[in-house]
Amino acid sequence: MEREASPANWRNRRIGSRKYATYLAFVSNLLLLCGSLRADEPYARSRDYDLQHSKIILHFDVDQKKVFGDVTHSLSILRDGTSRIALDSVGLTIQSVMLNKSTAQFETTANKLIVPLRSAAKAGEKFEIEIRYEGKPAKGLYFILPDKDYPKRPKQIWTQGESEDTRYYLPTYDYPNDRLTTETIVTVPASWITVANGKLMSVVDAGKGMQTWTWKESVPSSTYLITVVAGEFDEVKDNWRGIPLTYYAPKGRGDRLPVNYGRTPAMLELFSKKFGVDYPWEKYAQAMVDDFVAGGMENSSATTNTSTSLMHPKLASEYLTGEDDLISHELAHQWFGDLVTCKDWGHIWLNEGFATFAETVWTEAHFGKDQADYERWQASREWFQNPSLFTRPVVRHDFGENSDEFDGNTYGKAGWVLDMLRHQMGEDAFYRGIKHYLEVNRGKNVVTADFSKAMEEATYTNIDEFLAEWIYGAGGPKFDLAYTYDAEKHQVALTVKQTQKREGRVGLFSAPVDVEIATASGPKLYPITVSKETETFTLPSDSAPLMVLFDRGDHVLKSAEFHKDKKEWLYQLKSATELADRADALIALEKIKNDDEVVSALGEALRNDKTPGIRAQAADALGQIGGKTAAKLLLDALDSRDTPWVRSRIAYALGSIKDDTDVATKLDSVARDDSSYRTRASALQALARLKTSTAFATLTAAVAGDSPDKFLQRTALRAFGVLGDDRAVPLLLEWSVIGKEIDSRTAAISSLPRLEKNNKKITEQIASYLTEPRFPIRWAALNALGMRGDPSAIPALEALLKRDDLTIEVVPTIKRQIARLKNPSKKSDSEESGEGSPAAETEKPSVDQRLDKLEHLIQEMNDSKKSKEGRMPPAKQKKILDVILRKNSASTIN
Ligand SMILES: [Zn+2]
Repeated sequence: MEREASPANWRNRRIGSRKYATYLAFVSNLLLLCGSLRADEPYARSRDYDLQHSKIILHFDVDQKKVFGDVTHSLSILRDGTSRIALDSVGLTIQSVMLNKSTAQFETTANKLIVPLRSAAKAGEKFEIEIRYEGKPAKGLYFILPDKDYPKRPKQIWTQGESEDTRYYLPTYDYPNDRLTTETIVTVPASWITVANGKLMSVVDAGKGMQTWTWKESVPSSTYLITVVAGEFDEVKDNWRGIPLTYYAPKGRGDRLPVNYGRTPAMLELFSKKFGVDYPWEKYAQAMVDDFVAGGMENSSATTNTSTSLMHPKLASEYLTGEDDLISHELAHQWFGDLVTCKDWGHIWLNEGFATFAETVWTEAHFGKDQADYERWQASREWFQNPSLFTRPVVRHDFGENSDEFDGNTYGKAGWVLDMLRHQMGEDAFYRGIKHYLEVNRGKNVVTADFSKAMEEATYTNIDEFLAEWIYGAGGPKFDLAYTYDAEKHQVALTVKQTQKREGRVGLFSAPVDVEIATASGPKLYPITVSKETETFTLPSDSAPLMVLFDRGDHVLKSAEFHKDKKEWLYQLKSATELADRADALIALEKIKNDDEVVSALGEALRNDKTPGIRAQAADALGQIGGKTAAKLLLDALDSRDTPWVRSRIAYALGSIKDDTDVATKLDSVARDDSSYRTRASALQALARLKTSTAFATLTAAVAGDSPDKFLQRTALRAFGVLGDDRAVPLLLEWSVIGKEIDSRTAAISSLPRLEKNNKKITEQIASYLTEPRFPIRWAALNALGMRGDPSAIPALEALLKRDDLTIEVVPTIKRQIARLKNPSKKSDSEESGEGSPAAETEKPSVDQRLDKLEHLIQEMNDSKKSKEGRMPPAKQKKILDVILRKNSASTIN
């Protein structure tokens, strides 16, 4: 699943520039504190029966949001003496149960349907259980419908099983360690389409304007991968090697499918070749649905993705890799997750780590090594800035009440570690092992030991120690590095220290690394293996080195403090061949203030580095350094023909350069007119941060102006909060009302709390949105009230708590907001635990700076595809935001 933005997930979701990394890490840290209440089962169950096939017949009462089901399970008993069949079932009304075609007794509990057998059964005995039921699912199956305020929304019904929600709409065995084939028969209005697992067998008239669709999946998979999507959709057909491919968009958005999803066949080709096993299912459907609860979900042969992945064609061209991270991730799951499935959630990295790794495989093949390297470099930095992930191993079963097993380790770290393994084993051996792993485990459920065994069988390479350090162990190496040169002996003495705190599951790491020593006669490479707390390596060097690189190209997940002088960093920025080494130089150089040589080198990188990643990082660095010269370099680069993604980073970096009229004038002109929408959006944000004299007028014009999907309008509405100009209040109130587009409303609502702090009418209006049926609005209002700090909102929040339509995740947030309004000065738990994190120690930005960052983060989340694909359910993403908002607002009050 793409929940990921895993805590860290956002993390890794490479949200943008390094600048936000600390912030993101901080955010990730907080996620831990607000997990959902129902825990996933950490270990696979012992089974009494093997579910082999389910025939699932469904129809719906759309107005009532009800499902009517008739499911027939064929199962085989696994142990002698089995006297009853227990199925997972939550909130469903069971009308009848037939056992081998005769009426059977049954009982229900809060989460089980139990069918007693007439006598104790023997292993191997087969049963057919037919269950008729109905329900109004609280989860698992969702109805997205038009209403009087939003009458044009296409009707959609879709399911989301992972991790343990299939049981909310289908009584079944709901844990990954069983596999079955399915037949799914769905009756819907004739104008609708349906999508389910497997092959489409027939669509027949069912009378009264209805049609019945029959789908059949003949390859077994787990019940969390069962899917049904139905509704008003546009369809685009394609194919790959004769296998039907279909893409679905909510009605009216079909023209967005080719530009965003058209690279699917090329991905199928690449993955089939790389993994050594052809795409294993009979078709591949991708259905994009509105208000999806995750970024994407890899249901067998039929992925569901968020419709926010259907970027407007005019915006899509401004994102280098488009939606490909999401699309390649879900596709890779068809092998890793669906064909071979983790046995329990503790080994979920065998699904998520592999799918995340596959994103890199696609990026590297299609967008080039530099882009893949840049994303890996960013992901590594962001991961190291998250202290809570650092101390937890990838494989663990202690997620308990938090159900936070889908974290930044199982996605980001595990994906990185697989790339590291590929580098260490070599491309050929690694993929030989992967092919064998898939072949011997296809159709099975696996634990990490199955992976290690397969890799060893295929390559004779034992990876147990590697897994012990990186997957079963926690953390990663933090290196302190320095070298001296002995001119007489012609030797470099490189001292390598591992400084990570060794505690809990964090130990020392052993890793092969390449050291490059460059002298006037050229670069030479020396492979070494580090393994100790402190070691000194003596390496030949014909003259004093111009540059020494440790782990050239960044192939070990690590952080490193390499003590070098300015001259060497400048050389490294200009001359290192690998992107990661040049990026490291940028990070070192941006810390050197008031130095013309540094500024000029950064300007050179901004103009001339061959990779967009380095050019964008150089822009960030110049923004950090500031001053007249840096401003001039950024302004010139903004006028260049660089790509929109680099130019938008330049515009944002200019937002750090205060009191410069040239900067203000230029940003104003770019915000109003530029060929790139992303660059205009960044200019709007920068103007708001700088609080220039023209910012109010320019933001106001952006709200009134036109842009694809109202991209600039939403940016401006959010930026008004950063600007902090009370004149924006009438406009924000106008755009927050029912009937306006949801995204514009949430943007306006998020800015309101920071304006006219004493105006009770604003608080009232925000409070009136708490009871709206649309979740994004509710959530925006809830957070806005907490942030606003006006205790007059307390009664509205308390009334909200009494409603019966709240999802379980919302309740604690409401309670927190109430507590916060009642006692604004009291520190919350999360604020306390936030101390001691790198964010708290190394970065003490002003409240304004923090809020500005927050605004930018939200902007990125909303507008950048990178975050939408976030592998975290929106509820969790929003939870994080809620926590940040709370923290920031508390600081404001204090
Ligand atoms: Zn996934």
